[in-house]
Amino acid sequence: MAKPNAPAEPGNLKDIIAHAKEYGFVFPSSEIYDGLAAVYDYGQMGVELKNNLKQLWWRSMTQLHPNVVGIDAAIFMHPLTWKASGHVDSFNDPMIDNRDSKKRYRADQLLEAKAEQYAAAGDPDKGQGLLYRMAALLGAEDLEGVRQLIISEGIKCPISGTDNWTEVRQFNLMFSTQIGSVAEDSATIYLRPETAQGIFVNFLNVYKSGRMKIPFGIAQIGKAFRNEIVARQFIFRMREFEQMEMQFFVRPGTEMEWYEKWRDARLKWHQAIGLPAGKLKFHIHEKLAHYANAAVDIEFEFPFGFKEMEGIHSRTDFDLTSHQELSKKKMQYFDPEINQNYIPYVVETSVGADRLFLAVLCNAYTEETTVEEGVEKKRTYLKLHPAIAPVKAAVLPVTKKDGLPEKAQEIFNLLRFDVPTIYEEKDSMGKRYTRQDLIGTPFCITIDHQTLEDNTVTIRHRDTMEQERVPADELVGRITYATSFKRIFEQL
Ligand code: ATP
Repeated sequence: MAKPNAPAEPGNLKDIIAHAKEYGFVFPSSEIYDGLAAVYDYGQMGVELKNNLKQLWWRSMTQLHPNVVGIDAAIFMHPLTWKASGHVDSFNDPMIDNRDSKKRYRADQLLEAKAEQYAAAGDPDKGQGLLYRMAALLGAEDLEGVRQLIISEGIKCPISGTDNWTEVRQFNLMFSTQIGSVAEDSATIYLRPETAQGIFVNFLNVYKSGRMKIPFGIAQIGKAFRNEIVARQFIFRMREFEQMEMQFFVRPGTEMEWYEKWRDARLKWHQAIGLPAGKLKFHIHEKLAHYANAAVDIEFEFPFGFKEMEGIHSRTDFDLTSHQELSKKKMQYFDPEINQNYIPYVVETSVGADRLFLAVLCNAYTEETTVEEGVEKKRTYLKLHPAIAPVKAAVLPVTKKDGLPEKAQEIFNLLRFDVPTIYEEKDSMGKRYTRQDLIGTPFCITIDHQTLEDNTVTIRHRDTMEQERVPADELVGRITYATSFKRIFEQL
């Protein structure tokens, strides 16, 4: 979460944001009009990386779990969906404004930042106490109490330096719009704030059409929209973002077993795509959402600290029961093993594609200083897992003459049908290697005069910069194997 009292962005994040823009990963939305807060576009490299992450998630969910299937529900849903899910009544964040700076904050985040300050100053109990008091006030909907707590804690606006705070108000995070062209016929509908409900409302359809047997899961990737009060930290908190969610339907009473299984499986998945164990941790929720009986976040150590990347929630039968009540359709499963009808319990895994992208990018961004012949050289590269890198190989003839470009084109044509490959003949080899390093291309294939004689090429490995000579005939096999999702699947 954005911490208003902390400096805007840590240095390293600034470098990563600049890199993402310069090399075509992420651009601010509608930048020519000075951008739109908390909305971003993915560029030519970013879209490839993001698609790889989504594909990897999708395939590991549906391909490696024979009892998980996917759907693609619409963004617009019947408005009663959001009544049943509780979003209309309680998808709120408490906001507060500073009258002098005219800046808006999330009241809970101001207090959380204060609690962190206590912890950092060696008094974590005081911080915990503050968090408990805040939770009690929010639970009792005592918004004036929250305001008083902010004032009594001496919390000031970091911009104006004053505590001239307005009252605290609840702010619903859903975007609404009108559906229907004629004013009298139009109705208010919402842009979905989570993809999960598209799965719940299709539970019966999938269960029946797919002849599914519990336990089974339904996975979905799609856009979600939240009118976040404070949007900072680049693509960590966006107003339009993408979620990858899976709802796993189980027999009541077995949900804890499945919750633990999915929690561990998801942690392993993040490690398999290259996120180091030391930068990942669980954060168990003590205060549970209205629908959950257990919840844990997988946090990643971003440049601004450990923050939520994925949530694993045991959602009980809350959603299906609410939909049953409001729609009057029976959301039941007949379990032939115990000869009973019941509303299944649900364990959810929910990861933001953009937050995962940011974690992967932050982890891959590497600045190294090497000393070559007494001269210090700085090298920046993206140490991406080869399976998710936007470009897998670059084919580079050492010169533009002597038939090398023709030979290189031949090799390029060999590779490009199997893996995303770039061909480049402009500039020195050093410059071309650097360009590939900056976008994280794991393999550079160099074509030289020896290639013409014995049909061998050199492969330069991005991370070690080591080169090896291999027969051109082996290239397709080697590169497709090294960049295949299978390398990741094998670890799961
Ligand atoms: P936070 O506490 O950070 O607001 P949340 O607990 O509300 O997150 P969930 O509702 O559990 O998040 O959503 C599941 C996942 O969706 C999160 O773990 C995160 O990866 C992603 N996500 C949620 N909100 C955003 C957002 N505004 N921008 C980008 N990703 C988001």
